[in-house]
Amino acid sequence: MQQKKQLSPDNPNHQKQEEQMKYRHIFGPVASHRLGRSLGIDLIPYKTCSYNCIYCECGETTMQTVQRAAFIPEDEVMEELKNFLSTSPDLDSVTFAGSGEPTLSLSLGNVIAMVKEEFPAYTSSVLTNGSLLTRADVRAELLAADRVIPTLTSTKEETFEAIHRPHPSLSIDAIIRGMEEFRQAYRGEIWLEVFIIPGINTTDEELTLLRDAIGTINPDRVQLNTLDRPAPERRVQAASETDLNRIRDHLGREIAEIINLSPPVSGSAGVLGEEKEMICAMLSRRPSTIEDIITLTGMSGGEVAKILRDLEKAEEIRSYRGARGTFYSSTLPDEAEPKREENH
Ligand code: SF4
Repeated sequence: MQQKKQLSPDNPNHQKQEEQMKYRHIFGPVASHRLGRSLGIDLIPYKTCSYNCIYCECGETTMQTVQRAAFIPEDEVMEELKNFLSTSPDLDSVTFAGSGEPTLSLSLGNVIAMVKEEFPAYTSSVLTNGSLLTRADVRAELLAADRVIPTLTSTKEETFEAIHRPHPSLSIDAIIRGMEEFRQAYRGEIWLEVFIIPGINTTDEELTLLRDAIGTINPDRVQLNTLDRPAPERRVQAASETDLNRIRDHLGREIAEIINLSPPVSGSAGVLGEEKEMICAMLSRRPSTIEDIITLTGMSGGEVAKILRDLEKAEEIRSYRGARGTFYSSTLPDEAEPKREENH
């Protein structure tokens, strides 16, 4: 198992960090608005995804694919999870997430099934873009999860393509049909995430079509989400609370809820404190990309993305576009403002 390398023996957190180093595929627990105290499981290499969303917090998709594969050794994930969960940690969710699309992993079904069988007290959740729900094998593997959280931003192909820049083989009509088929077979909860980008999927026509699709997909919850950190592109802006309430009214107040307006659950913030400190220390020495941080620390992409997002929201770091992609650096008052360029 790869070890984190960016550790100094005189660092007071050294021992604790050493302790956490053995985990390469699980991260957290992290404080999640939706899921509470959530342990992340990352089955996918950094930015391997069927989409390349204009709002993605992890930056550009580096490997766009719809081919499922065994990206990481399944026995390593199983071992890490069993090791962690056998200590009976206080968790609200064991969450398949990260910096790519979890359903691309051929290990997904087996790992969900293991958690269900060996640790039935925990609730398993899968955060997915939903694009592979067109596949019978993916739908079958997800049946054992307690909660599936797919994304739908638009029912119009043109808008879908503008927002997600999907793999060419994907179409939103087929994806919605996949979601409907999944609903018919699935006994767990579906929480449908609708990501709102003002001016792109907020017209009355878009919202009416979305409402119709929600009616046929029949999720247990609809969760309105929007950008909650600096925009990766100028055309991607956060929706205001007023906008979100208007959209909630349009989609149906009884089913739609707004997330991200309140702080995450109490008692779970700061659970990645040592890793945060380590990343802050790195970024105070030199600006780095997310890939640099993953390489230097050995942490999972999902964990690094979560920490960078929190730091950027707290304005402890800032990002800017450089030759190798998006760079992150510490916010120093006497630094010159870096030039922000368009992400794409
Ligand atoms: S589906 Fe998720 S991981 Fe993939 S590009 Fe979109 S936001 Fe990023």
